[in-house]
Amino acid sequence: MNRNYLVLLLALATPLSGAFRAGAAYRVITPDIRSDAPPVYIAGFGQNRLATGVHDPLFVRCLAMATGKKPVVLCGVDLIGLFLDDVEKIRQGARTQLGRDLDVVISSTHGHEGPDTMGLWGPKPGVTGINETYNAFVIQRSVEAVVAAVKGMKRAQLLLARTGFPDLKSFINDTRPPVVNDPELIALTVRDRRRRTIGTLINWANHPEALGSANTLVSADYPAAYYRVMETLRGGVAVFMNGAVGGMQSPLGAQIIDPTTRQPAEGFRFAETIGERLADLAHDALNNARPLSIDRVEYAEKRIQIPVANEGFKQAAAANLYGGRKAFRPDGTSETVVGYLRLSGGKKVRLEAAAIPGELYPELSVGGVQKYPGADYPDAPVEPALKPQMTAPFKMLFGLANDEIGYIIPKSEWDERAPWLQNAPKRWYGEVNSIGPEAAPLIQAAFAALLRR
Ligand SMILES: [Zn+2]
Repeated sequence: MNRNYLVLLLALATPLSGAFRAGAAYRVITPDIRSDAPPVYIAGFGQNRLATGVHDPLFVRCLAMATGKKPVVLCGVDLIGLFLDDVEKIRQGARTQLGRDLDVVISSTHGHEGPDTMGLWGPKPGVTGINETYNAFVIQRSVEAVVAAVKGMKRAQLLLARTGFPDLKSFINDTRPPVVNDPELIALTVRDRRRRTIGTLINWANHPEALGSANTLVSADYPAAYYRVMETLRGGVAVFMNGAVGGMQSPLGAQIIDPTTRQPAEGFRFAETIGERLADLAHDALNNARPLSIDRVEYAEKRIQIPVANEGFKQAAAANLYGGRKAFRPDGTSETVVGYLRLSGGKKVRLEAAAIPGELYPELSVGGVQKYPGADYPDAPVEPALKPQMTAPFKMLFGLANDEIGYIIPKSEWDERAPWLQNAPKRWYGEVNSIGPEAAPLIQAAFAALLRR
């Protein structure tokens, strides 16, 4: 046999092994709100908030990356949260359709203007807000987006950038001490060899609840404007992965000036101003970035069991609000997952990311846990913050990744019993939506174990 022919055959047998490839795809997951359709309960604030229309579509948006045989797919989904049970169905569906193994991270944006996919915002206490047909539709569309992103993978270049100060910090109003934000935005874009954008993913932390509790129009909240502007500026598919949104990162209460009117932004302009600025800043930062060589895309995950201390969560499970999801184990724990993503080139680690299954308090991401008189566990060890444990120049933290267990509070700041932190006259908001005081130490330990591997 001709030797050159043999070389060609070998090359074809291991297509692009080692070369960095990327693909991106999205699907629409807007619920059906026609008058003859079942009611859509909007999640995130009070109960029985019925959708009356659609302002902008909801999406599942995925970016697939690979160097070897096993792709990693990162998806942001415009929902309040998806439980691990539904995420596992997406993963299994994608594996079956592709006929290959892959890693999938599904991070809910935590949008507060979309359907109740967790069951907590139904018509009245004790009645679920989940429409099972809708959750099944989300799973099916998410599988489609993952599969399309993987099938579309081609040789690609990767660029990374950071931006954020000072505007993005001013978009966050922290309503619980300590006032700690992680306002930095990390942007990742992949482009083909003709420099056409395949997809752009940004990671930033803030509650998508800019439209507030009175709105009844379905919307992705501030990510909607980010998707639109980013795709106009760069092309490709825009993906949003939220960050450490706990304790309590919200645009509500922040004063944001609309650049078009130079007046304080209100209503939908309040949300749009945030999203537009995210896209503008990320685009500018990426324009100054250079392509990085990537020869390894790795993802690892660890399963952990967290004791369920929250009586409200137990009652919700007993009333079947979760629709069979989140089954507690006989020992009173609930199982969830912690993930770790790493992109490297040669000996250089370029990007690391933590995939955290809920709403992490930012002091657990960037540091700044404080000990206050009044805390329930004043002697609890302070959990080491996650980002400082990573060594890459670019660090991401995906919140509500693969699960939503609620707020993840430093154990030494846990406060369910009076007196309250800082001698506040009433209890702070947080613990009521947290699985329990052991979540933070167990998640930190799992992440540290993943880093050591
Ligand atoms: Zn929240």
